[in-house]
Amino acid sequence: MKSNALVVTEPGTLERREIDVPEPGPGEVLVEVELSGICGSDVHMFNGGMDLDFPVLPGHEMAGRIETLGEGTTTDAKGEAVSEGDAVTVVPGIVCGECWYCNNVPARPTSCENRDVYGFLNVDYRQHAHGGFSEYMLVDERASYYRLPDDMDVELGALAEPLAVATRAFERGYRPGIPDAREGFGIGKSVTVQGAGPIGLLTMSAAKAAGAGQVIAVDAVEERLDLATEFGATDTVDLTEYDDEGLVAEVKGLTNGGVGSDLVIEAAGVPVALRQGIELARDGGTLVEVGHYAYNGEVEINPTRIVQKDLDVHGSLAYPPNQFETAIALLDQLRGEIPFERLFNYRAGFDDAESAYEKQESGEAYRATIHPSGV
Ligand SMILES: [Zn+2]
Ligand SMILES: [Zn+2]
Repeated sequence: MKSNALVVTEPGTLERREIDVPEPGPGEVLVEVELSGICGSDVHMFNGGMDLDFPVLPGHEMAGRIETLGEGTTTDAKGEAVSEGDAVTVVPGIVCGECWYCNNVPARPTSCENRDVYGFLNVDYRQHAHGGFSEYMLVDERASYYRLPDDMDVELGALAEPLAVATRAFERGYRPGIPDAREGFGIGKSVTVQGAGPIGLLTMSAAKAAGAGQVIAVDAVEERLDLATEFGATDTVDLTEYDDEGLVAEVKGLTNGGVGSDLVIEAAGVPVALRQGIELARDGGTLVEVGHYAYNGEVEINPTRIVQKDLDVHGSLAYPPNQFETAIALLDQLRGEIPFERLFNYRAGFDDAESAYEKQESGEAYRATIHPSGV
């Protein structure tokens, strides 16, 4: 079968191509793509920040419908029955199952030494269309995909991937997880989220779903802070109004006892935010760093503060496949309450893809989306 696709032939260059997509074999599924989000990592790739085997077929935040089920394929990764025409979203990361990490630390699949990620692979890799910037993609037998609730807008499925990033980052804050001892996160606790971009906003919605008592959003853009209140923030702080110390004083002043938040999530990806985050958490609290998925510069920190504050500091990279279950459950629970669809504020077909990348990079778009069959 032929499929219209958009590939990155080399950093900075997009090209339309007609690619071959084979019929799905046993365990495989052919999906007709409805849309794919452009992520910060896509912009990073487009700008030459990744050493990949170009030409690459992008698109790792996708949703669509099952066109054809391969022989013997009857359920999604959760074990739910699937039929042709069902709306699905695909987990882009695939592990090898053979390396030391796969054998010894399977709960952290991002450590796999031979990990493949749909959306970052050569367009001819395994003769499959492994990316969502294509009318059709073939989900191979190694990959996980999840069925979306019947009455949910298919488009929301494209948020499952960033929401998997966000919910995992949030859930990192659960550990060691004894809320009555004020360790980790618990119902009613205070959460500060630095950065109200897509990941930050989705992290706020996770905090809301989990029962946070206070969600403080910190950002430099007023419009983003306004949207944050719709994604679960109870308080907003415009960081442009303060210096480093003033910002810390302002956030701490909002918290119970003026001590800082129980859990702080750095989702801005701005180096100085990490230094601030250390101070925004209360003593004995937790700081999760998720914003710096790519190199974005460095910052001087005082390690003594981490010790003095007896802080738990966690990094969070992507997610295990079943984090999609959490993400889809959250979308399903809160879709009437949180305007998730407002993140899709720049829709593009292939012809308009370059400006979609620009809008995503400039921050004008929360999540620019590519629609292979047009908008
Ligand atoms: Zn992404
Ligand atoms: Zn592995």
